[in-house]
Amino acid sequence: MKFKKIFLASFLTGAIFFGGFGCASEGADNSNVTPTKNIAESNNSAPSNESKIPRQDLIVYSSPEKYSYDDFMHDLKIIENNYSSQVQIIKLCDTPDGRGVYDIVLGDINGDNQVLIFGAMHAREYITTQVVMRQLCEAIDVLNGGGGTYRGISDAELLKGVTIHFVPLSNPDGVSISQFGLSGINNDSIRNQVASMGGDYVQWKANARGVDLNRNFDAGWYEFGGSSYPSSERYKGTAPGSEPEAAALISLTQDYHIKRAISYHTCGALIYWYYKQSGEVLAQSQKFANEISSATGYPLDDDYTAVDAAGYKDWAVYKLGIPSITIETGAESGFYDNPVPQRFFNGIWERNKNVVYATAYELKY
Ligand SMILES: [Zn+2]
Repeated sequence: MKFKKIFLASFLTGAIFFGGFGCASEGADNSNVTPTKNIAESNNSAPSNESKIPRQDLIVYSSPEKYSYDDFMHDLKIIENNYSSQVQIIKLCDTPDGRGVYDIVLGDINGDNQVLIFGAMHAREYITTQVVMRQLCEAIDVLNGGGGTYRGISDAELLKGVTIHFVPLSNPDGVSISQFGLSGINNDSIRNQVASMGGDYVQWKANARGVDLNRNFDAGWYEFGGSSYPSSERYKGTAPGSEPEAAALISLTQDYHIKRAISYHTCGALIYWYYKQSGEVLAQSQKFANEISSATGYPLDDDYTAVDAAGYKDWAVYKLGIPSITIETGAESGFYDNPVPQRFFNGIWERNKNVVYATAYELKY
């Protein structure tokens, strides 16, 4: 039973959810975890006594230019305080610079139809954290009587029997470097290491150890060249899954019944969906990618056989046979630059607001 070690407890009071993952958890204090409730017993089918998301209290709805890790944690605490009966918050791992990677789960954690959506794997692409957070908040609203329809089916009906894992901020150390430079780093030793790598911190893509997390997965990793040394981008690390942030997503994907996965990036306006898959996985991947293309208006990558390698999507498709896509956002108005300025957020959101429901639709019908 994979989930026996997961306990429901407050993640902000020192107690932490552990999912039995293999990722690093150094620095985490789990000595006061109280095994009050097995998370596997939780589900979202109970009638709701909750209300809709208090948008005025959530920083993500104020559209800040830099939605930081602290802003994210502020909003996560509000969600935890108000919706503990409807969401489970799991700390996947601690990062080298002492932050957490969090998975917010809607739906039955043992369900057959599970979806993973994550953002900000590349540091400077942090506007995608806001996309995934807004998707989470709107999905909570759907559980509480809100929402619209997709292809004539209510969002609430589409979410039935589907579990969504939202990981809005998968590289919090890197995002802090891109947003705040060296002053965004907590640990003196890590700050010195980052300083020695140099570069334009605003354009930082890697984690705090200089590893490009989307080149740290076991799909063509050994063949991939890239940078030879830790740097702001394209250094693949010492081994597949060497980084706690990547290892966390690997464990999450392996431990749950993930059937579809979406990785958010910038800057572009298209969908990558292929990495050497064939047969049924190829057919499922095309169906999934076409549905998301229809929902967002983003075209599929037309040069899809020119694959990159060692990314999350590549690994999930190739090693696990999970239809997975990378959605590149931010260039909807023809502006190509990172970090994508906040003034483009509304255009990004319009394209991506139905992605959760389109994914559920494709999975169920
Ligand atoms: Zn990226």
